[in-house]
Amino acid sequence: MSPSSPAPPHDDTALDFFGQVNQIFGNAAEHTDHPIGVLYQIRACDNIVRFEFPIKRDDGTIQVIRGYRAEHSHHKKPTKGGVRYAPNVNVDEVMALSALMSYKCAIVDVPFGGAKGGVCIDARNYSQEELERITRRYAFELSRKDFIGPGIDVPAPDYGTGEREMSWIMDTMHQIGDDDLNALASVTGKPVGQGGVRGRTEATGRGVYYGIREACRFADDMERLGLAPGVEGKDVVVQGLGNVGYHAARILTEEGGANIVGIAEIEGAIYDDSGLAVDDVVAHREDTGSILDFPGAENIDTSARALELPCDILIPAALEGVITEDNAPRIRASIIAEAANGPVTSTADDILQDRDVLMIPDVYLNAGGVTVSYFEWLRNLSHVRHGRMSRRFEERNAERILRAVDELTAEDFDEDLLESLIERIGFGASERDLVNSGLEDTMAHAYTEIREIREEKGLDTRTAAFVSAINKIAKSYRQMGIFP
Ligand code: NAD
Repeated sequence: MSPSSPAPPHDDTALDFFGQVNQIFGNAAEHTDHPIGVLYQIRACDNIVRFEFPIKRDDGTIQVIRGYRAEHSHHKKPTKGGVRYAPNVNVDEVMALSALMSYKCAIVDVPFGGAKGGVCIDARNYSQEELERITRRYAFELSRKDFIGPGIDVPAPDYGTGEREMSWIMDTMHQIGDDDLNALASVTGKPVGQGGVRGRTEATGRGVYYGIREACRFADDMERLGLAPGVEGKDVVVQGLGNVGYHAARILTEEGGANIVGIAEIEGAIYDDSGLAVDDVVAHREDTGSILDFPGAENIDTSARALELPCDILIPAALEGVITEDNAPRIRASIIAEAANGPVTSTADDILQDRDVLMIPDVYLNAGGVTVSYFEWLRNLSHVRHGRMSRRFEERNAERILRAVDELTAEDFDEDLLESLIERIGFGASERDLVNSGLEDTMAHAYTEIREIREEKGLDTRTAAFVSAINKIAKSYRQMGIFP
């Protein structure tokens, strides 16, 4: 998509954040051969609504609140994306974030278009009752405008919102939904017990682990970086010990055998080249209010300095824009795993690519959340917990097979051995097992696709990820045609 390509009727590329997303899109589109009109349609933000509504504050005064929802792409339905509560939410931001959701969903084959919404408030300035009124009215306004529904557009948590807000949205949809059996599937990120799925809380962090594991699996890629294949034994620094950073760090150590040598939080960072026990660091922070002064670890005065620590893998999992042209030359990691959204600026990205640092891009790496949201939506539409119908059957079957093997072999198994085998092998998959297995498969498959494009076209991993997304969305348009 060259700058000289004819502009579509309403060119939004001048917008700041959306413009930046479109710049990456444009670079990737150059490496595809789809008709220019199709590329413009993929890039365009289909629907956007901005609305204002009154709420009653606890002191009886009335305040007017502004909300947004952008539905970027309808090549798959419903559209899907978070709702953030932040004072600076604006039209440019929701358009950009909804576009990134379209590309993210396409990369991991989650059959949704992208969306994003927001309410312009600082949630800390409102009581729980006020937040409930805002959330319910926001959901009601979306419903009135046909911007929410299990087959239309499905919100999820984002900055400033969580399970609580998703429950209120779900209940509002139930109240106004005329007995719609599928109202539960109007929103994801609900608590378990209200239609939420087990494994959703740690899904993004777990997806980050699977993504890193895939990237480290290829011996020739690791050889280029002077590293051995595999996650085991690799030194890792994590910035941000929140939902994503904590679970990624924990699973990297527990399941991957990685060595977490550095952890950064708002108050500073700690470093120990012999490895930090993540749960002990969390407990220490809960006890003392800080990660600093963790026994045996060296204190680092600022979180930013931790990004420059020696390590194999650096995981920014807190904020956007933390790696810039200023600190990029001092980064010593061979792999940067973008768990947060947009942690590396585009100039820093160029510097790091020149230095042959392997970037695992956010648009792929943090897709675990939306992948498991898809599993939650499926659960809600099927009205049954994943694994409920088959778990006991699988257990009995495995036990029957083991007992049959015992009967068929010349020597009987020792009874204790048989019982322990039944216990270890003869279990049926729980919902969490199924969710984790689906997530693992999704992340592995998507990385293989991105890597193939990267190697075939000689691209960096981020551009290759966008090419993967564009190809899949273009294929949808090619197969569906354009209405009418
Ligand atoms: P979170 O609020 O749970 O955690 C963020 C953590 O970063 C907090 O512990 C906070 O104290 C810490 N932090 C803030 N400023 C810091 C600094 N300067 N240095 C070090 N640490 C700092 O948020 P989260 O849900 O873990 O999200 C983290 C990032 O991942 C965000 O960019 C988010 O957009 C992205 N993301 C999250 C999800 C999800 O499912 N939660 C999905 C996709 C992307």
